[in-house]
Amino acid sequence: MKQVKTAPKVGMVSLGCPKALVDSERIMTQLRSEGYDFSPTHEGADVVIVNTCGFLDSAKEESLSAIGDALQGNGRVIVTGCMGAEPEQIEKVHPSVLAITGPQQYEDVVNAVHRAVPPVHDPYVDLVPDQGLRLTPRHYAYLKISEGCNNRCTFCIIPKLRGDLVSRPVHHVLFEAEKLALAGVKELLVISQDTSAYGIDIKYAESPWKGKRVRAKFYDMCEALGEMGVWVRLHYVYPYPHVDDVLPLMAAGKILPYLDIPFQHASPKVLKAMKRPGNVDKVLERVKKWREMVPELTLRSTFIVGFPGETEEDFEILLDFLREAQLDRVGAFKYEAVQGAPANDIDGAVPEEVKQDRYDRFMEVQQEISAARLQAKIGRTLKIIIDEVDGEGGADGRSMADAPEIDGKVYLRDVPADVQQGDIIDALVEDADEYDLYAVVVGK
Ligand code: SF4
Repeated sequence: MKQVKTAPKVGMVSLGCPKALVDSERIMTQLRSEGYDFSPTHEGADVVIVNTCGFLDSAKEESLSAIGDALQGNGRVIVTGCMGAEPEQIEKVHPSVLAITGPQQYEDVVNAVHRAVPPVHDPYVDLVPDQGLRLTPRHYAYLKISEGCNNRCTFCIIPKLRGDLVSRPVHHVLFEAEKLALAGVKELLVISQDTSAYGIDIKYAESPWKGKRVRAKFYDMCEALGEMGVWVRLHYVYPYPHVDDVLPLMAAGKILPYLDIPFQHASPKVLKAMKRPGNVDKVLERVKKWREMVPELTLRSTFIVGFPGETEEDFEILLDFLREAQLDRVGAFKYEAVQGAPANDIDGAVPEEVKQDRYDRFMEVQQEISAARLQAKIGRTLKIIIDEVDGEGGADGRSMADAPEIDGKVYLRDVPADVQQGDIIDALVEDADEYDLYAVVVGK
């Protein structure tokens, strides 16, 4: 009888944004295919990988402390991710880590694991589920279409850490999407640093796909994804004119009527200092046009308040923009100086108490808008994707307007016993608060 050898165990700590989560998933998929197993605890692992985030100074601190915890709980630690691009900072605090690799250096991380704990090859147990291993629930998955970024927003160090835009060939993206859909994924979340810039670096290279040629272009990729019979949600889109092109796909129900566009500010002066596209009137015009084309459109955005040089007048422009644009979902950050970001050299640092005051006023205005937009949904029947059922007739899920983890939820009652995670049902909205909806199931 064949003796099955015990698989070496790897612990994985994944910090940071959904993009980092996809990196962790790829590393895990690779290790799993080589016969490694995973340990939910540091103590039970032979080695621990910490996938770090280096976006803000607070994230760096969190990363350093996660490395410290892993060293204490296990002692054998490999560091990867955004903070790995600045190894000195890690070595200074934690000189005993085994290896440090930068973002997307999957091969290097996997090689470091091989050195720390050699793989035990066993064809009887080395099985990779066809869709790879994912850390997200089964019914939704992040689809990363590119790495890096060609923009140079002054508050951001991602281009320094991750380099310029590198798009994946479109057939790779579509193949991965199809595999995920075949594996039961019902919702794909398209992510990258700048989704609308997809393909620019590879000159929109064509690839064969299902007997046709598809270009590595924002519209073409969305059109092909729209044929997969799953929800497709677009994140991190810049407000470029060619974004208009995908609105007809939304109107036709091919991709979700949802756009996550980080506007960051509305004052032309602040946007210029941020090195972001700055024509607010054009943006408002475009938002209006989009809503005419797709009345169901949900707009999510993020903003920074208290950017260096932001005056009360700039801030008022931002509040006016919010009132005018009537965005559905909004996140805000108080500006935080990031080591290495060009914005640190801009004069006019905003005092902390002013930042806080502006943040509070910003959130107050937006909360009223979001709440009113949710209230308007009461009495309507919406499609809801089920995230979790409680087995007692209750469940929570999300409408097409809600991305997982960052937007609100829909709490459901009268859920039939056969409804499962990932099902899409019809529900009548009965109530709403500032973030969430409450609904009763009316059909499957
Ligand atoms: S678009 Fe701007 S904020 Fe986003 S990753 Fe690129 S440089 Fe950073």
